[in-house]
Amino acid sequence: MTSQAFQDDRAHVFHSWSAQRALAPAVVAGGEGAWFWTEDGTRYLDFSSQLVNLNLGHQHPRVVAAIQEQAASLCTIAPSFGNAARGEAARLIAEVAPGDLNHVFFTNGGTEANEHAVRMARLATGRHKVLATYRSYHGATTGSITLTGDPRRWPNEPAMPGVVRFFGPYPYRSAFYAETDAQEGERALAHLEEVFTLEGPQTIAAVVLETVVGTNGILVPPDGYLAGVRELCDRHGVMLICDEVMSGFGRCGEWFAVDRWNVRPDLVTFAKGVNSGYVPLGGVVLGPRVYEAFAERAYPGGLTYSGHPLACAAAVATIEAMREEGINERVRRLGEEVVRPRLAKLQERHPSVGEVRGLGLFWAIELVRDRATREMLVPYNAAGEAAKPMLEVAAACKAQGVWPFTHFNRLHVVPPCVTSEKDLINGLDVIDDALDVADRYY
Ligand code: PLP
Repeated sequence: MTSQAFQDDRAHVFHSWSAQRALAPAVVAGGEGAWFWTEDGTRYLDFSSQLVNLNLGHQHPRVVAAIQEQAASLCTIAPSFGNAARGEAARLIAEVAPGDLNHVFFTNGGTEANEHAVRMARLATGRHKVLATYRSYHGATTGSITLTGDPRRWPNEPAMPGVVRFFGPYPYRSAFYAETDAQEGERALAHLEEVFTLEGPQTIAAVVLETVVGTNGILVPPDGYLAGVRELCDRHGVMLICDEVMSGFGRCGEWFAVDRWNVRPDLVTFAKGVNSGYVPLGGVVLGPRVYEAFAERAYPGGLTYSGHPLACAAAVATIEAMREEGINERVRRLGEEVVRPRLAKLQERHPSVGEVRGLGLFWAIELVRDRATREMLVPYNAAGEAAKPMLEVAAACKAQGVWPFTHFNRLHVVPPCVTSEKDLINGLDVIDDALDVADRYY
């Protein structure tokens, strides 16, 4: 017997990124903190934070109350008006943003934020090319899916003209035959400089990158890399756009991951964790160079729901809660004291674990069939039969009550930032057991 909710879903909901016919989504009835439960009462520890957005966990009382209070006074207002929730959200975001990034353009999510950041950079510089990395995801609308380097781009091409691809650092699978992180950072920079030269720096509006690459593998840039990109951009008048849609608002134990390296981009995009996804919200924080370009002429872009009061009220409550609960400090501590040593142990125990990497509560376990050759447990862009080993690992996690995040040959550890230490350790133990499944393919 399937429920009405399940029947309605299968009869009428068209799901993203999926072939529709065989889908059987779990129907979620509720959630609290790091846990959610399906309509049959099965409880899951959410090691995926939904889509790595639920940083404060489900039903945070302060955020729920803020949405309710805002709904009781004013549900919506056009973006051309001032509004207390919108203004306060912008002020708080500017307070926690890097350096002199002081103005916020609000969107409904991450993909629109990246669309607008690129448009701003192009208009402000009068140049058209945008450099983006192969291992990236920037969103699913026309421009952002072109910026995206991973295979989700393929069926959507050709889309936005003017995007040129480059390799970012990835020491474990170096495109530059580097043997150390430092070498990888230096060679990736030299490569980017060569791309600048061959493309003609005067044609390049912006470099777009995820500060810490998310879905494509939790790739933490080697020290010095981002500062080097900044310097290269400065030398040629090119804008640096850091996509912090996934890495921002606590995920890396910082407001924005760039804070780790003290780098100041021209534009930062955010979404997800800004209000834990309770109401759709994203945006671009922009610095003086972009602001001045539109101080005397109109910015030709906008959205009906830009700075929606319910979403902004949720963002204000989220930032206040993060400050009061010391979320960034907590995430940094849990990352270093709990996750890092336990993942190192997993790597010792399981031959199929090729590498573990990450920071804060943003970690990847990369699975291989052979440590020497680093052959991936499932191939790049695996689907159907080819993806089976990873589906089995995910099923083993779910069978023990942990909802995992998997992508290609990786299992990501991305629980809500409020997960208790006990739950975090239990979740890592479940992953430990589930990796026995991966070892059988080794
Ligand atoms: N940028 C990054 C780094 C992301 O991880 C995502 C979504 O996962 C996006 C952009 C797109 O955000 P949205 O799905 O809110 O449009």
